[in-house]
Amino acid sequence: MPALTEGSLAASRSLNARLLGYIRSGAASTRGQLADLTGLSRSNIAERVAELTSLGLVVEAGTTRSTGGRAPVRLELNARAACVAAVDLSVAGFDVALTDLDARPLTDRSVDWDIGEGPEATLTRVEEEIDRLLSDERARAVAAQPLVGVGVGFPGPVRFDTARPVSPAGLPDWDDYPLGERLGARYGVDVRVDNEANMMAVGEHRLGAAKGVEDFVLIKIGDGIGAGIFSGGRLHRGHLGGSGDIAHIPVPVDASSAITCRCGKQSCLTTVADARALGRTATALARDRRSPALRRAADRSGGPLNARDLMNAALRGDDPSVRALEAAAGHVGRTLAMVVNVLNPELVLLAGDMMAAADIVLPVVRRTVYAESTPLTTRALRIERSDPQGHFGITGAAATVLDHLLGAERLGDWSAISPVRATR
Ligand SMILES: [Zn+2]
Repeated sequence: MPALTEGSLAASRSLNARLLGYIRSGAASTRGQLADLTGLSRSNIAERVAELTSLGLVVEAGTTRSTGGRAPVRLELNARAACVAAVDLSVAGFDVALTDLDARPLTDRSVDWDIGEGPEATLTRVEEEIDRLLSDERARAVAAQPLVGVGVGFPGPVRFDTARPVSPAGLPDWDDYPLGERLGARYGVDVRVDNEANMMAVGEHRLGAAKGVEDFVLIKIGDGIGAGIFSGGRLHRGHLGGSGDIAHIPVPVDASSAITCRCGKQSCLTTVADARALGRTATALARDRRSPALRRAADRSGGPLNARDLMNAALRGDDPSVRALEAAAGHVGRTLAMVVNVLNPELVLLAGDMMAAADIVLPVVRRTVYAESTPLTTRALRIERSDPQGHFGITGAAATVLDHLLGAERLGDWSAISPVRATR
């Protein structure tokens, strides 16, 4: 009965993927713990671990401490069995990295780039950087071959099922562009594409401050603004991939100072709080001579100022700059309060370039959220800075494609990946 054989093969793969998931997450590191977690017999577990070992995905890594009797053998994911490429696209630049199968970056590069150049030019540049990493001798020493997948974060809404951006504000060339298909054809591997903030949230959940946290929100404030939302331990993408796109929620500003957003609406959050907005504010404070510090900076640079100039001046105590930054942070806080009221997260993580001035921004965001949210939603709420050294956009993009490659659907294909070597 072939149907039954097919079915039992699928069930077996699904079970093997589950065991590998326990080993990947650290929930189990011995055959005995796998048996305890699954209720399967020791002999069944031994057989399945042998299959995962023969695929090159699990290695024995010495013994664990014994509680009496023979010390059990420690099992680990063979993180160096292959590598994946991770790409973190932002509005004004991108990061590329090769990571191991634990989603940890082995080698990476940052490139200044205007994503408004469009998908063809941008992806050609991204491919050049991936190729450079793959051919770099030093990188090859740490990133074991072969490349098995690509994960990409994009600064706008993404249809996860088609791996295409959908209606990104101000980036019409990217709308419905076959981003996943293009990179998949180029490298002959699986590609997963998701919103940049979603990828960061996945990275935080896997390796960062949100590890073990079921309900949290990551907000990135830099060249763009976006939010990644975890609810009940799962990433929430929404019906069409538009979840967390908070940049275009209108904020209350004077009609006289309202700016038309690149999305066509007036007074979106991004028009008062993203890097471009802070740069415009800094330039205006210098031009009007309201801030002597920024005036001097403008005289030195000879051109328009940027967000970094405003934050630097604010951090050195320049009062007009501090107040401008606090006003922007207040808008972020009010928008975030709506999110908190609706979702009741346990943790909010703030990321992005604006966090270079976290000492000024974070207290204002906290104060605003606490003032404008219900007592229940703030009773146990923590609002923290995401670790800027965490590379969570990269780790999240890698983890997203690895979840697919190491899941039940693709696990069997690892036998075809050659050469697969245990490195221990
Ligand atoms: Zn807008």
